[in-house]
Amino acid sequence: STRLAIFAQEWRRSRATKSIPRRPIEVRSDEAVPGVVGLIGNTPLVRINSLSDALGVDIFGKAEFLNPGGSVKDRVALRIIEDAEARGLLHPHTGSVLFEGTVGSTGISLATVGKAKGYEAHIIMPSDVAIDKVLVLERLGATVERVPPVSIVDQNQFVNLARRRAHEFGNVDLPTNSTTDDIVVSTTATDDDVHGAPTPRHRDAVEHKPRGFFADQFENSSNFDAHFRGTGPEILRQTGGHVDAFVSGAGTGGTISGTSAALKRAVPDLKVVLADPEGSGLFNKVKYGVMFASQESEGTKRRHQVDTVVEGIGINRITHNFELGEAIIDDAYRVTDAEAVAMSRYLVANDGLFLGSSSACNLVACVRLAKTMPRGARIVTILCDSGARHQTKFWSDEYLAKHGIPIDVGMIADLLAA
Ligand code: PMP
Repeated sequence: STRLAIFAQEWRRSRATKSIPRRPIEVRSDEAVPGVVGLIGNTPLVRINSLSDALGVDIFGKAEFLNPGGSVKDRVALRIIEDAEARGLLHPHTGSVLFEGTVGSTGISLATVGKAKGYEAHIIMPSDVAIDKVLVLERLGATVERVPPVSIVDQNQFVNLARRRAHEFGNVDLPTNSTTDDIVVSTTATDDDVHGAPTPRHRDAVEHKPRGFFADQFENSSNFDAHFRGTGPEILRQTGGHVDAFVSGAGTGGTISGTSAALKRAVPDLKVVLADPEGSGLFNKVKYGVMFASQESEGTKRRHQVDTVVEGIGINRITHNFELGEAIIDDAYRVTDAEAVAMSRYLVANDGLFLGSSSACNLVACVRLAKTMPRGARIVTILCDSGARHQTKFWSDEYLAKHGIPIDVGMIADLLAA
């Protein structure tokens, strides 16, 4: 034991003398980014080899699933928050609360960017959205409020609830298309409601107190801007401007509108195609100029329904963000649940790409479009999120069987051969 004690003493002494020289850590901008928000955007463009080789048309996907919050919505959350900060509506590290009604991705992105900047997130979600996203939100420390399934309520309902919650917390309403001058300050309540201090609520922004902020992704044009200034210019850079078509689904419409506007400005001949899931009315709006949902005849209760296993795209009203790009959408394809499911399984088997439902939907539309294009043409689409977010619905064989949706990968081979 004496020998052990001496050994221990010597070991400690040797460790003490062999101290590691301490140098200041230099972070070079090309090697590291300053925090999590630095990981947002600048996503790679990936060639979808199996489809491109079979078609003789190059199909590229913007790998948005590589964003830190796992989806294209990270860009939007960051832009919405930073625009609000620039307008003095939010101040970092004040514990202000971001409110949003979302089927998931935007909530996860708001929670992610929020934590990095010192905000909380309060997310209102329909109860029929895949539980995977709820779990992620909870791990990110967001408050999750679940409302009845989106398939039985007006889609506006959960979005409006988010608006109301933000207002209850002390929101300064930000009207659509607003400038700082347009900000409507609520004068009906005082700071007492929230903080017990006797100052008017609108001073919160000035005094950097925690307050509620309704992100409003459907109507807030910061959503469009995220893609107009980010996604679009990145695609132009990555393709050297050699891009013939852009394909995207639309939920809020931010992606298709903002990206297309940037692309068409540089490439006027570019064709923009909407990929629309079953039950969505956008297809009809683009094709016939009239917004009508496929289930409209079944009554008003189902008027706003988008009844599909594809999450995040398809809607039965015209949002401000969709409106911003509507005029530049040239065509639309309807994609069935069965086709999107088949595409997702096909891509895992042939490309090692594990994608979410809206990405699969986009790629079905890309194949249809490629069939109409000359060999060597280039199509770009968005790979919105990964399959990991869709384990319990879109990627669950049991769920699909229960809802009568076939898993028939042969559909894609047929589509390619047609
Ligand atoms: N894919 C997924 C997974 C989404 O959550 C969303 C957003 N609702 C979209 C696509 C559609 O994007 P946008 O809202 O920009 O139309």
